[in-house]
Amino acid sequence: MRIPIQSVTPESGHAEVCGWVHEVRDLGGLAFFLIRDRTGIIQVTLPKKRTSEAVLTAAKQVSRESVVRVAGMVKAIDKAPGGRELVPDVFEIISMADSPLPLDVVEKVPADLDTRLDARFLDARRPRVAAVFQIRSAAMHVINQYLHHEGFINITTPKIVAAATEGGTDLFPIAYFNKEAFLNQSPQLYKQMMMAAGFEKVYEIGPIFRAEEHNTTKHLNEATSIDIEVSYADHHEVMRILEELIVKTYEYVNTTCSDQLSSLEISDFVVPKPPFPRLPYCEAIEIAKKRIEDPIEYGDDISPAAERALGSEMGGHYFIVNWPSEIRPYYAMPYENDPSICKAFDLMHPRMELSSGAQRVHQHDLLVQQIRKKGLNPESFEFYLRPFRFGMPPHAGWGLGADRLVMTMVGLANVREAVLFPRDMHRLVP
Ligand code: ATP
Ligand code: MG
Repeated sequence: MRIPIQSVTPESGHAEVCGWVHEVRDLGGLAFFLIRDRTGIIQVTLPKKRTSEAVLTAAKQVSRESVVRVAGMVKAIDKAPGGRELVPDVFEIISMADSPLPLDVVEKVPADLDTRLDARFLDARRPRVAAVFQIRSAAMHVINQYLHHEGFINITTPKIVAAATEGGTDLFPIAYFNKEAFLNQSPQLYKQMMMAAGFEKVYEIGPIFRAEEHNTTKHLNEATSIDIEVSYADHHEVMRILEELIVKTYEYVNTTCSDQLSSLEISDFVVPKPPFPRLPYCEAIEIAKKRIEDPIEYGDDISPAAERALGSEMGGHYFIVNWPSEIRPYYAMPYENDPSICKAFDLMHPRMELSSGAQRVHQHDLLVQQIRKKGLNPESFEFYLRPFRFGMPPHAGWGLGADRLVMTMVGLANVREAVLFPRDMHRLVP
């Protein structure tokens, strides 16, 4: 019976493993193979004089990255990985790999990102790549667990929609029978409608689609968003939830993914400490003005250069709060005493924005007014506005980019590295 390579020890006796041929070395009288599975690597040693003809024939034919089944006696040996080797009496080629390989799994030749993504199935055989997705899986696990534990209801909202969340041009039109339809850019309107349905705390982890013609290291055309919405909560309350979620995620990865972190050569994984600073937007602009060359004024978006300057000033996660209403969506709640600013926030990692959120407008007439102010037509939002006329609790929420969360947590240069099969302007396959 096959056992994971990691659990083969010098005491295993006779053992059977299955995996990929990681490396082949032929030293005349001796041949060495390294066999790799998801858990580790084992040396397979063939003393040619004492090895059966069948084993030798298969071993001679096999190519790197073929899948093999190998069984034999395990012996202690100092110089081999894990301090043991296997001397095979069975060497079966299960699936032969073509040569040359599109990508060097052993990583002697570093591949560029495009080559890696084109051959993602091979790329992901490399432990440091697999580690990213194991960490992503752990992060998603603890996020689900945390939100479930906090009483959130997991919902699934449609990805095929008739109207844009915020108007705008960032939408992918699709052919939907004979109607105009789009891929949804955010679950925003639907999660808010569930506040009118009385669910009180909802969350969704799902795809968002943005037809942005960006070609940056942090934008995808298909991303994964972690979204929450909470009734009777204000922006302060949902910022607290967000900061706790980030800390819990880092803590969980830190305690359960030590092997993966060392595969990624991360020896200084730091769990952020709450509370994260709340930096008012107007102060953020003042800091950016002093630190960057490009002009930036009150009322501008935080440019990538400003993001970087603020990041190095703040040194860790922080919130930007109290944004000008003009540059936030219509659903962000203006302050009663100064409607020119609103109860919106962004959660920032020193490298980039991770999340946007706000207390929402729950008053129907104010919402209509705000939609108009943005130059949008309330009639195209009737399905969304209707619940606001039949008892809508006050509420707040946020959307957190899962891909950027993983990217910044493990220090990846490009968000595409945190996604198995990224979609961007130039990439639709595989
Ligand atoms: P940015 O200004 O960085 O383009 P955004 O403000 O347009 O982001 P939001 O609409 O606020 O993005 O979405 C909430 C979060 O979802 C973002 O903070 C980000 O983490 C993630 N996100 C949004 N768009 C993308 C994208 N195109 N690629 C990757 N992640 C995204
Ligand atoms: Mg945003």
